[in-house]
Amino acid sequence: MELLNRLLASTELAPPLPDDEAIRTAERLSTRFDCTVYPKSIAAGGGEVFFLARKDGGRIVGRLSGDAGAPAINLLPADASSAALLRPKLPFLWPRCIGLRRTIGCGDRLGIATPGHIRACRGKGVECILAQQSIREMTRTRRSPQDVMDDATFGVFQEGFRDGYGADADHLKTPDDADVCLRAGFVMFTIDPGEHVDDEIDLPEAALDAKFEALPWQELESSSAGCRRAFAEQIEPAALVRAAVKYGRAVAHSARMYRHIKAKADGPFEIEVSVDETAAPTSPDEHRYIATELRRLGVEWVSLAPRYVGEFEKGVDYIGDLGVFERELIKHHAIARELGPYKLGFHSGSDKFSIYPIAARVCGDLLHLKTAGTSYLVAVTVAAELDPAFFREILTFARERYPEDRASYHVSARLAEVPKPDELSAEELPGIVDQFHAREVLHVMYGSVVADRPDFHQRLMKLLEDHEEEHYRALEAHIGRHVEPLIG
Ligand SMILES: [Zn+2]
Repeated sequence: MELLNRLLASTELAPPLPDDEAIRTAERLSTRFDCTVYPKSIAAGGGEVFFLARKDGGRIVGRLSGDAGAPAINLLPADASSAALLRPKLPFLWPRCIGLRRTIGCGDRLGIATPGHIRACRGKGVECILAQQSIREMTRTRRSPQDVMDDATFGVFQEGFRDGYGADADHLKTPDDADVCLRAGFVMFTIDPGEHVDDEIDLPEAALDAKFEALPWQELESSSAGCRRAFAEQIEPAALVRAAVKYGRAVAHSARMYRHIKAKADGPFEIEVSVDETAAPTSPDEHRYIATELRRLGVEWVSLAPRYVGEFEKGVDYIGDLGVFERELIKHHAIARELGPYKLGFHSGSDKFSIYPIAARVCGDLLHLKTAGTSYLVAVTVAAELDPAFFREILTFARERYPEDRASYHVSARLAEVPKPDELSAEELPGIVDQFHAREVLHVMYGSVVADRPDFHQRLMKLLEDHEEEHYRALEAHIGRHVEPLIG
């Protein structure tokens, strides 16, 4: 009671409670309000005490004010309006810009993984982006940018995570994409000009020159002659023409997107430019062309994601020659230092265990790793352990849907290599998720589950909510395997 009085009296954000006090207070509040309070969520500020709790299979926000003996009590649903109420009261719930510090992006397609992500990153010397989803994935999971922000907010609240976190509106292709994410409170914007990249550059010189002359020079605020002059000392003429033909329109589109975001943002924001989802690797000369041109056009960014050599398939390790990868990365990093400094972005960064030590050694702090699908695979693995029969149904469905679901993802799994669910014992099932072919097949089906099997989606969510500590522990372990090599 004395503690509650002290908390209710604090006008500013009170420091977090020591663990033992938090646990005792949570027990008392749980009994009093017939719910299960998350101890780390208890936070006080502005003469009020807030907590997050589970009740009847859902989450509620508790809000106490007044005198500890007979406080005014509000129990609110953990929804968008509660999140909006909490952020000004508990400012650590706002996302923030992270700048040039080393980052790991933890995408969360189900919207329940944030506590596990926090546990993997907390105190490790790597900043985390906890709200991170591309427009494509929001569409597939039927979550709005606001849903993504709010789910991250409640995860941060639940864990009492006060170190700050980023929020990345990923793979924005149009100004409209940026607008909805700006409204939802995102602070990092990943501009994806991939649709404006022209991969057809294996052409005779005359044809390439014609394409070069036809670039949108007005939008690029330059001319073909001016461009040749500007790069005369840095890029060999034929390579410059190829770089400009390939990426000139993407540069113009990125500048357009950047200016749009800058005009609309009403607070600090940060930018990543990503060309990772294109067919051909970005050469160092091409990287230099892109960065030089973006700078000339006034674009400021903290991270740039080239398309690296080798294959970055979804949810599996790097495919390619590590020596070649490292040599190219050293060149990209040198350009990022010279023309920034800015971070190099590694998209489809899930499970690329063989490259993390190289990336950490070459890039130091100037690196941003993006993961997303791997957390979904953790969820599926936990389901396989908890409910083998359910997992068999999921795997059957994933096999059916793979030919269609693979279309927009960089994967190469062959269905013939994926075991049939009834060929496996219950003990063998969770291990299937670690096998290359099954892993990719399971990775790309998350959207079909939401769209066509809402029953699966609900069962999966309920299973994980009912066993949330198992789910968080599995996430902490798996994302931890990504974090450890980054911090050396
Ligand atoms: Zn990407």
